[in-house]
Amino acid sequence: MNVKIIRLEGNEFRFILEGVDVSVANALRRVMLAEVPSMAIDEVIIIENTSPVFDEMLAHRLGLIPLVTDLESYVLPEECDCKGEGCIKCTLTLTLEKEAEEEGVIVYSSDLQSQDPVVRPVSDKIPIAKMARGQRIVLEAHAKLGKGKVHAKWQPVSTCAYKYMPILEINQEKCLRCGDCVSFCPKKVLAIEGEKLVVKNIFDCSLCKSCEESCRFDAIKVSWDDKSFIFNVESTGALPPSDIVRVAINILLRKLSDLEEGLSIAVKEEAH
Ligand SMILES: [Zn+2]
Repeated sequence: MNVKIIRLEGNEFRFILEGVDVSVANALRRVMLAEVPSMAIDEVIIIENTSPVFDEMLAHRLGLIPLVTDLESYVLPEECDCKGEGCIKCTLTLTLEKEAEEEGVIVYSSDLQSQDPVVRPVSDKIPIAKMARGQRIVLEAHAKLGKGKVHAKWQPVSTCAYKYMPILEINQEKCLRCGDCVSFCPKKVLAIEGEKLVVKNIFDCSLCKSCEESCRFDAIKVSWDDKSFIFNVESTGALPPSDIVRVAINILLRKLSDLEEGLSIAVKEEAH
């Protein structure tokens, strides 16, 4: 097994995973989507809301605001000593108090005041409600760690997908450099450089085979390596994307060791 990083920038992480079966790649993808915890607002106490947005809508919008997550300082409510009742180890309070002093005041995510300066909205510019003069919102929100399999608001990734590593074979002897494939490729993977048709950016190839079909001289063959994957992970901003992959691998390892433990217990019981 081998990993090569193509790009790791901001919330984007693109890497190649080589020498694994599709089931391993898919397990990793599913754990990133459904099992890596992140922080999101889960309870809202509305003290006053005279805005045109209903209480339920307001709570829903607040829940979907991605929060910067600190996995070191917080634990999942179900794993907490308080048994999920809510304490400083599993629950964080954010407050919002805003009154419109003029027409058309927009309440943004930046208006949320967090108890913990580390855990705050990923972006300050997420609109929550628009108010007319004199309208007011006062509320208290409780954020908790959770998993994407319970609610999508806890998914730490906005994109998590993989594709097979494309293989483009060009027969330079058959190729007459007509440029048809270059213009037909929707991803602009091919180019003619000098007297040669070259692959410019293999990672962008979506295996659509437009190049192969457009070639009148049968000079291009598109295939893929079914043991090699290009992963595209985009974080919502809750966690750095490389951390999402790392945490996902640890969760997968823990699941496997639980399975091993369960198996040895079952074997021992069978022997008795
Ligand atoms: Zn707790």
